[in-house]
Amino acid sequence: MVKAHDESEVVYLGIAASPGIAISPVHVIARGFKAPDVYAIEESLVPHEQARLNEALEQTKKQLIDLQKRLENLTGDNEAAIFEAHVMILEDRNLVNRVMEAIADRQQNAEYAFYAVMQNFLEAMRRIHDPYLRERTADIEDVAQRVLRNFDANDDGRVSGPDDAHLLIAYDLSPSDTASMNRRHVLGFATELGSVNSHTAILARSFGIPAVVGLDGSVIDMVTLTPGILDGYSGKLILHPTAETLARYRKLIEQKEQIRSSLNAKRNAATETIDGRELMLSANIEIVEELPMVKRSGAKGVGLYRTEFLLLNADEMPDELEQAKVYSQVVSELKPHRVIIRTLDAGGDKLPVEPLTDQEPNPFLGWRGIRVSLARPAMFREQIRAILRASAHGKVSVMFPMISGLSEVWRGKEMVKRCMDELEKENIAFDAELPVGVMIEVPAAAICADLLAKEVDFFSIGTNDLIQYTVAVDRVNPHVAELYRPTHPAVIRLIKRTIDAATEHGIWTGICGEVAGDIRLTPLLIGLGIEELSVGPQQVPRVGQAIRSLSYAECAAMSDEALRHPRSQGILDLSMALARKHYADLLD
Ligand code: PEP
Ligand code: MG
Repeated sequence: MVKAHDESEVVYLGIAASPGIAISPVHVIARGFKAPDVYAIEESLVPHEQARLNEALEQTKKQLIDLQKRLENLTGDNEAAIFEAHVMILEDRNLVNRVMEAIADRQQNAEYAFYAVMQNFLEAMRRIHDPYLRERTADIEDVAQRVLRNFDANDDGRVSGPDDAHLLIAYDLSPSDTASMNRRHVLGFATELGSVNSHTAILARSFGIPAVVGLDGSVIDMVTLTPGILDGYSGKLILHPTAETLARYRKLIEQKEQIRSSLNAKRNAATETIDGRELMLSANIEIVEELPMVKRSGAKGVGLYRTEFLLLNADEMPDELEQAKVYSQVVSELKPHRVIIRTLDAGGDKLPVEPLTDQEPNPFLGWRGIRVSLARPAMFREQIRAILRASAHGKVSVMFPMISGLSEVWRGKEMVKRCMDELEKENIAFDAELPVGVMIEVPAAAICADLLAKEVDFFSIGTNDLIQYTVAVDRVNPHVAELYRPTHPAVIRLIKRTIDAATEHGIWTGICGEVAGDIRLTPLLIGLGIEELSVGPQQVPRVGQAIRSLSYAECAAMSDEALRHPRSQGILDLSMALARKHYADLLD
């Protein structure tokens, strides 16, 4: 890699969203349009690149003027005026000079320098509150795209680009960006927006990609190809690391690797506390590509399969047979272990589902989860039939998300019954005893857990949502991340209430929210009486070892004290004390 000039080390602080360390050059992307390849140029080629920029700008200008004329002939002046505005953007000396300077200062190819400056400009526009100005970003994007098309991208001398291993740096990444990212090349990512409980962060943890979100610096000032270190343990992005910093991180990677391989050696041991309380340890998955990781992790099946990720590359859910094929693959591969398939939970920060075209003012309080399924019975029926078909291939349970009351459970179960009757008539095999469970993630469900427990076979507590709804803190908003406290007394009381109601009615309770994988809280969760933990595949070995190190009796005594404690921090401290006592080496 060629470095334009020496710089001193810069450390950007953020929120640790997915553990791990990655050392690699950064690649900065922004929204809107695809980044061109980037490569370093020799100083002597700077004038050549600047000339290429001028050519691309001139050519774009000609095309726009031509378009303007053609449109004037067809529709009159008004419509054509838009291209005049586009030409003006290209003539903005300020902007052009900035690209010229970027080519010279960063010694990068003209198209990339142009792209980076435009992204900077666009990002600034997007943050403007004036809706008219914000809308102009689309025009500018349009012009920028034209200019980029007018570069000849097949230049020689390419030394690096997005096809090489890199740290991905972005203003924001959606869950679908993350799910579809090339995991061979993206060694880690950092974003300016985001929070630990966003689905983007959850996916990073599932895939084992180190990630930092909520960076304190502006990513648009960062330069592609800059050497970097991403520290997903303490939430740091370090640019231009010194030799000393590099050596320290290389050592840390080695130490973590040792811990990882010793955990892996024990991954198939029983997940039982030292005094004999057995816990079910399963994995959360989003896409079938995670199956090999699940199998390697030692997880006893899947405690949460987020089926909404089938919408990743599609506008609507695949049909019954396509879904049945995917579910059956998961179920057959994990046999004899159980797979809990959650029905569609689109909405919130996840993939939107038809027919929502407008932005919802409060997506987390709106059209998501079981509400969408019940309002779209044809789609719901296809999914339930597909799940039932898969149940002929192994051990399957179905689970409904976002349950807020009894009638939703009844209606969900009615659909299961209806589909069973249909399949029976059609002579299609399925498990007639298919267990039906619900997510407890809305406070109303936790408060009415005694009513729900009579109707279902199990509870799985979705702490990601339960916390946000209980303390009224948006799980993806970094500005209120400080208030998102899993050990808030209200949250642990709701968890306890849910477990007690389940025990009374003879059903089991698990946790599939991110809290389940946080080993600082394992003593508390075990003490409260949780029977299953479902965590990202990467976290399975660590959580397994934490369970094996603890005594249930000790955890239960601590949890009783925690339930009487008035403060989140105090409750966390109580749990942490046991975690430190029994497995300090596992804590990051
Ligand atoms: C949860 O809310 O805790 C949960 C597991 O569901 P999701 O993160 O998919 O909303
Ligand atoms: Mg949820």
